[in-house]
Amino acid sequence: MLELKHVEKVYRVGAEDFHALRDVSLKIESGAFMAFIGPSGSGKTTLLNLVGGLDRPTEGEIILEGRNLADLNKDQLAELRRKKIGFIFQFHNLLPVYNVYENVLFPLLLNDEKESAVRDSVMNIIERVGLGGLEKKKPTELSGGQCQRVAIARALVKKPSLVLADEPTANLDAENSRAILELTSELNREFGCAFLFSTHDDKLIQYVNRKIKLDDGRVISDVNGSSEEVER
Ligand code: ADP
Ligand code: MG
Repeated sequence: MLELKHVEKVYRVGAEDFHALRDVSLKIESGAFMAFIGPSGSGKTTLLNLVGGLDRPTEGEIILEGRNLADLNKDQLAELRRKKIGFIFQFHNLLPVYNVYENVLFPLLLNDEKESAVRDSVMNIIERVGLGGLEKKKPTELSGGQCQRVAIARALVKKPSLVLADEPTANLDAENSRAILELTSELNREFGCAFLFSTHDDKLIQYVNRKIKLDDGRVISDVNGSSEEVER
């Protein structure tokens, strides 16, 4: 479903070029449940941002479901994001003046759905992430773990084929992290949408089916399931 071919990302900082990604080539299957791992600054967020069409590579190609992202203009990229991609961030980025129901509804309104037509799906996904009964609460009235559940519901309500989750457990304690991982793993199996995480949370790494390690913008290992790590 997703292929990266010789992707490079260079940031210009003053007069200096900074290579955030170097010659990254990968193929990721539909329905994958995988993580990009590696130290801070290794390029994980940059990679997720490129895959999500939030930024463009300096060199190389990204093919998502048969479409080369380079062929899409800004508006087409934004539409692809709205329709196909769910985002979950380290900080939940919920809209503070909206309640849980409205936060989850919001991406569907952006896709021109009528509230009356989608009310049931919004209520169902809120129930599914364990927040049934809390629809009227504002983000400030919820715990960090509950807010991250709202963010998951918001990402999944449009039934995306791809969910990008950048360090989603970084601000949660062990118990909440584990609950979030179990939830995402169940939703991955139920909905069949691919989850691409970035993380350095060891617990998260144990849950995924594939781990791609980055170092200084390069892929240094790519491990499936429980097989031995192969440096390349
Ligand atoms: P990670 O998510 O693994 O911590 P990032 O993708 O955020 O890594 O960053 C990779 C490298 O690119 C870092 O050294 C970072 O400082 C640099 N970088 C990221 N974004 C920018 C930017 N907008 N401008 C300049 N340098 C950036
Ligand atoms: Mg990051």
